[in-house]
Amino acid sequence: SAKEKGRNTYCVYEDKMNEYLTEKIYMINNLRKALSNDEFELYYQPQVCLKTNKIIGVEALIRWNHPDEGLISPAKFIPVAESSGLIIPIGEMVLEKALQQLKMWRNQGFSELRMSVNIAAQHFNQSHFSNTVQTMLEKTQVPAKQLELELTENSLLQNTGMTSNTLHTLRRLGVHLSIDDFGIGYSSLSYLRHFPLTTLKIDKSFMNNINEKEKDRALISSIIHLAGSLDMKVIAEGVETKETMHFLKQEKCDEMQGFYFSPPLRAPQLDQMLKQYY
Ligand code: C2E
Ligand code: MG
Ligand code: MG
Ligand code: MG
Repeated sequence: SAKEKGRNTYCVYEDKMNEYLTEKIYMINNLRKALSNDEFELYYQPQVCLKTNKIIGVEALIRWNHPDEGLISPAKFIPVAESSGLIIPIGEMVLEKALQQLKMWRNQGFSELRMSVNIAAQHFNQSHFSNTVQTMLEKTQVPAKQLELELTENSLLQNTGMTSNTLHTLRRLGVHLSIDDFGIGYSSLSYLRHFPLTTLKIDKSFMNNINEKEKDRALISSIIHLAGSLDMKVIAEGVETKETMHFLKQEKCDEMQGFYFSPPLRAPQLDQMLKQYY
């Protein structure tokens, strides 16, 4: 009967929910273990100047080397880390590893290289976030101007009072502040007026098929001009083809990042890239 069917559907739904929760709890426990076992590794993707074709910066991207499951992408575990609060210790570990690596590269002669680090909203919105950053910069003796923090619109729009203070404190230190995935959010642009941001990263979804999509080309040019008139640097992410690179060059975009130049690499492979392109 319909009633039984309804009950069955409900049971299936409940089973799925339980399965989902069990999986999530399992993942949280695993993430905790991964932290204490040091199973996370940073990969680095070059950010290249479109005028000189030199590497000016790298973005740190976390990977999880799971002992049984192999390499797990951040898209899978960062959301779980965010919902469980584990993003704070994970985020601090990422900042520290990235700065330690930058220190090593500086010592190898890549003295002006910039390091970009993704910061989750919850982490950024901790009241002492700017202190944490300052302490880590002091500890690693990396100049603040060589650190760029990648924030999302989401982080900036959660709590304007504190957000503004944190951003100003970080800027006073000299830290660069970028908006990641720019162009796909739903918010108004007015935050660009209030906040001392230095960089826009154009979301990768605009970069595919720019040959066929005139509107994507128009949006990319508009964002580049917007950044220019706000005196911000602009980086295109997800650049996969020569055509896209040429288009960005023609539109006077500052930097590009993407598979066309290089995927994210382990530190030793990035060493080789730096020797050739820094
Ligand atoms: P994101 O910060 O926007 O990073 C760019 C993503 O695009 C990276 O994915 C990168 O591997 C990928 N990518 C680079 N070049 C290309 C390309 O040419 N084509 C395409 N299709 N993709 C490209 P990944 O490493 O899987 O990271 C996904 C997201 O996870 C990141 O997006 C970021 O939001 C988050 N994430 C990564 N590492 C961290 C971290 O240490 N902390 C936090 N809070 N989030 C992180
Ligand atoms: Mg990013
Ligand atoms: Mg992005
Ligand atoms: Mg993203």
